Amino acid sequence: KEFRNNVKPNWCPGCGDFSVQAAIQRAAANVGLEPEQLAVISGIGCSGRISGYINAYGLHGIHGRALPIAQGVKLANRDLTVIASGGDGDGFAIGMGHTIHAIRRNINITYIVMDNQIYGLTKGQTSPRSAEGFKTKSTPEGSIESALSPLELALSSGATFVAQSFSSDLKQLTALIEEGIKHEGFSLINVFSPCVTFNKVNTYDWFKENITNLDTVEGYDSSNRIQAMTKLMETGGLLTGLIYQNKERKSYEDLVPGFRQEPLAAQNPEITAEEFDKLVAEFK
Ligand code: SF4
Repeated sequence: KEFRNNVKPNWCPGCGDFSVQAAIQRAAANVGLEPEQLAVISGIGCSGRISGYINAYGLHGIHGRALPIAQGVKLANRDLTVIASGGDGDGFAIGMGHTIHAIRRNINITYIVMDNQIYGLTKGQTSPRSAEGFKTKSTPEGSIESALSPLELALSSGATFVAQSFSSDLKQLTALIEEGIKHEGFSLINVFSPCVTFNKVNTYDWFKENITNLDTVEGYDSSNRIQAMTKLMETGGLLTGLIYQNKERKSYEDLVPGFRQEPLAAQNPEITAEEFDKLVAEFK
């Protein structure tokens, strides 16, 4: 099972996104997928390039729209494992409406956000995840807005799988992606993925000093939503591991009345060219 291709990533040396790419490739192999069983759909940003670096179906979509495309792919072929991916600006600013509603919908895809608290591709502007006071070219006096808390928002929106990891912890990140793939519903995995070129505050060392790893917290119960919310608030969101999972709620595909088990993409409608033209004409 070879999820590597021969495309050389053009991320800066040391960018956290390299680990996310490796973790997706390892997780896909570990759960027994073949390349033709996986689709990786990405948005725009440095992180959006990831779909081109994995040997699977891939689509580098448009800004903030990885999730609508990924959901379309899943609905057309529920047999595919679908991973959507992008950055914090992509998913938590322009794409936030899609993120919240995909969470509510609980469609069976895995969404991996490479969260570097800055816009890297456009050379370093404040993002929705930048802390108050964060200085960039777009906020030279320091950001006057508070940072978004995406995982608290996800929990309060009915998320059934919420996890967070760190690019430096490839083992944990790979394991969480495996769990996300296996989860029957929408899984959100936020990854602290440092931008070594433009973010000189939230560095690898900064995360190592500030993160609480749930794998080391005794007695933590990831099925307890209130405990998950409390822990996120206590740590200012600097928490890694499986934060919350609800295995009881069914996925969107399983709840839609009459949704076919056989993928739409595998059905042969046996339609003639004339009938097809007539159908298309009705939509003109
Ligand atoms: Fe990674 Fe930042 Fe370089 Fe983009 S600019 S590739 S996010 S290090």
